Amino acid sequence: MLAANLDIEGSRGIILEGSSCIGSKLLMSGGGHCNITHGGSIKEFVYAYGDEGPALRRCLYRHSNLELARWLNGLGIELADENGDPVDASYGSNGIDNTGRIFPASMKSRDVLDALIGEAASNLWQIETDVKVSGLRREDDLWEITLHNGYELRSEIVVIAAGGITYPETGSDGSMLEILEDLGMDIDEPRPALAPIYVENYPYAELSGISIPDVTVIAFSSDAAHTCKGKAAKMKGDLLFTHEGLSGPVILNISKYVEPGELIRLCYNKELYELPKRMQRILRERSRGLLGDVRTNVLAGFLNQDDFIVSRVDERGMVTTGGVALDEIDMQTMKAKRFEGLYVIGEALSADGITGGYNLQLCWSTARTAADDLKKDF
Ligand SMILES: Cc1cc2nc3c(=O)[nH]c(=O)nc-3n(C[C@H](O)[C@H](O)[C@H](O)COP(=O)(O)OP(=O)(O)OC[C@H]3O[C@@H](n4cnc5c(N)ncnc54)[C@H](O)[C@@H]3O)c2cc1C
Repeated sequence: MLAANLDIEGSRGIILEGSSCIGSKLLMSGGGHCNITHGGSIKEFVYAYGDEGPALRRCLYRHSNLELARWLNGLGIELADENGDPVDASYGSNGIDNTGRIFPASMKSRDVLDALIGEAASNLWQIETDVKVSGLRREDDLWEITLHNGYELRSEIVVIAAGGITYPETGSDGSMLEILEDLGMDIDEPRPALAPIYVENYPYAELSGISIPDVTVIAFSSDAAHTCKGKAAKMKGDLLFTHEGLSGPVILNISKYVEPGELIRLCYNKELYELPKRMQRILRERSRGLLGDVRTNVLAGFLNQDDFIVSRVDERGMVTTGGVALDEIDMQTMKAKRFEGLYVIGEALSADGITGGYNLQLCWSTARTAADDLKKDF
């Protein structure tokens, strides 16, 4: 996105991609359909990034979902909502006049990637794959970039867009975060987020594929696991039972607040008869052996306080929480405050959003903010 927005005529810009294929994660986004951003006012995006939201505000406002939609339209990419209905980006002032997930109308991530690569090429960027960076050093006002094969490049400016730590087979293996840490940059510990959660004594394997809407999930911090005080997070949304554990938007969104050994509570916000028949049977079986009022109370308890101890958070999170600490970055330019000529954008930053297109919007907005600043030099 940065290269697609930065014409470097007269200079030389190279994208150094460590893997054999550029944009692998973008290709797999939204199940291959690419949930490119979210609808609604950009002002409402800030909450989606939790504590980091306020730091991202200016960057999001400056390069919003609406601006992205118009830019993509200009490249011939029309947008649609999740039902495939067209999204019109020609009206609205604060954001896209739609409140859900937004996709390319073709529902193909490939179209988005091809458009970005096409724009980068027309801006005269060179793309090199299988070129992994293994070191970074500032020498005589230049960055010395060491490659895996021992070659070195020198550049006035380096932009880090190396992603997080999850799905390492895409190339996003956290190696760049280690390089930046060695350089002396403050890195918040990277961990998977937007990940399924596994719990001890999981009783719902046979409900695999069943989704329950509007479930409240509360995560309790570890010191509070037995007392149920000290909430780490509370969220509401659709819950999906899988063969091995819990998933669905509400679980993915709360996963970054959860660690093994901690307690999570599911509140279904429904009467027993409103739940799927198979689930009613499992709940009754779980209260079997108890008599009269006790059994009734236990059953009612499951509906509001179905408590589990977390055994594992899936390491294959859709996104990484943690990365380059935002304090290190001037969020108006994406320039590192303590390192001359260094920028950090996208998922490598210590900021992540809930599901719904917010993570790609973070990448688009930060990339275009950095491009704005760099344009001054070209
Ligand atoms: C399965 C899945 C589905 C997703 N779906 C969505 C969605 O629908 N909507 C949404 O908003 N978000 C989604 N996301 C998240 C989104 O795809 C990412 O946040 C986004 O791709 C991050 O972009 P990035 O350019 O910052 O990093 P990445 O896409 O991770 O790209 C980083 C690149 O840097 C390269 N690299 C890393 N280290 C080095 C090195 N040392 N040397 C050279 N190159 C290096 C990597 O090979 C990689 O190509 C999804 C993620 C996954 C895994």
